[in-house]
Amino acid sequence: MKTLSYIVLFVVSALLLQAQGSKKSVWQTATPTEKKNALAFAEEYRSYISKAKTELTSTKEVIEIAEKNGFREFTSIRDIKPGAKVYFNNRNRAIILAVIGKNNIADGSRLIATHHDSPRIDIKAHAAYESNGLVLFKTIYYGGIKKYQWANLPLLLTGRVDLKDGKHIDINIGDNDDEPIFVIPDAAPHVDSPLRERKYTGVFEGEELHPLVASVPGDSTSVLKEMYKRLQAEYGFGEDDFVSAELSLVPALKPRDVGFDKGLLAAYGHDDKLCSFVAVSSITAVNSTPDNTVLAYLTDNEETGSINNTGAQSSFLSYCYAQIAEAQSTQFNDNVTRKALRNALVISADVNDGINPIFPGLSESMNAARVNNGVAIKLYGRSFNANSEMIARFRSMLDDNNIPWQTASYKVESGGGGTIGGFMSKENMEVIDIGIPILSMHSTYEVASKMDIWCLRRAMTAFYQLK
Ligand SMILES: [Zn+2]
Repeated sequence: MKTLSYIVLFVVSALLLQAQGSKKSVWQTATPTEKKNALAFAEEYRSYISKAKTELTSTKEVIEIAEKNGFREFTSIRDIKPGAKVYFNNRNRAIILAVIGKNNIADGSRLIATHHDSPRIDIKAHAAYESNGLVLFKTIYYGGIKKYQWANLPLLLTGRVDLKDGKHIDINIGDNDDEPIFVIPDAAPHVDSPLRERKYTGVFEGEELHPLVASVPGDSTSVLKEMYKRLQAEYGFGEDDFVSAELSLVPALKPRDVGFDKGLLAAYGHDDKLCSFVAVSSITAVNSTPDNTVLAYLTDNEETGSINNTGAQSSFLSYCYAQIAEAQSTQFNDNVTRKALRNALVISADVNDGINPIFPGLSESMNAARVNNGVAIKLYGRSFNANSEMIARFRSMLDDNNIPWQTASYKVESGGGGTIGGFMSKENMEVIDIGIPILSMHSTYEVASKMDIWCLRRAMTAFYQLK
């Protein structure tokens, strides 16, 4: 009987081991130099993600990084010549960086596309109301969030208010320690028995995600009136201006190292500012004229379906391709742009869900991605998927450069998610979806491995050099 249980135990552990794959943590296979590089690069990323909260602040940071590295804003097709470093700013929410190659863009290009919006809570047009002597904002959440995670959390307010006179005001309140933050107050356990039967997804309902924004009345005015007076005096906008504002609440949390060994980095917005920053870092490091034009495209609105003129479904990308193609051709017409799109190789880079060690059963471990195992090639099957010859080309590039990689597929019938890869593919471009696994994805504080971030950086650099 005892022997039998040992055999059973052996078979079960062998199967489990097989299911977990034989891949080692990249921390074990990386050279000391690579480990050092990974830690140093995480610090560069930390400084960007500390400031880039939404697509607006990210675009601002990216322009700063780009200009420091010799990129100039595109003004006319005369800017386009081999070696030129230009950026196309799409309404301060999406951006394309390009290093113009020796060859015409119609003959090939290398594009990395990401998104730099992240799930958050937006403020409604008619937001403020007073209840029991306190003022709160009505909100509408943006992207797929678990609503309960946003209660009792320090939130900062960021965005812009556009005034009728054409001016706009940038808002950023709560990032510095001497500024106020905003909090959505949960019910105390002493009184919440009527709420306890709620389901996991309904712990907070959408119309309950209301942050506290003011509490002090004037001598003879209400808290609400006093708050509007303060907004006008301190920030220069009033009640009516909320209609033409893009104001968002995001966690007021600084990126922090996780664990005794500091191998992981927690931050709000890894999805997908992580890939966005890595793409920007890779393209700004290109220091000689490449054969093919290389581009990095940071899109907006991915979390709500890549809509609007700043999302990946807009024609901004083909417009930029047309600008470059026109500058390089003697007989420019629409076909030149179409040829350029057809001959482009594209990485659509977005973080993906890593196997959660607390809930491993939510993943199918033979095909899911594991933190610390490197770049993930996404094979989603039922949604956008790269053609197998593109996957072969990409994995060969990774192997040639000794870059650790794995695959990422969802457990069938248990979840899913989309990427912007499909929109590039619709333009007849040759696209592959990649990412790195993160934990607590779409939460207020996502966790990524510093080593995986570095693997992604190496992969993007190799891709820009791909012949
Ligand atoms: Zn994403």
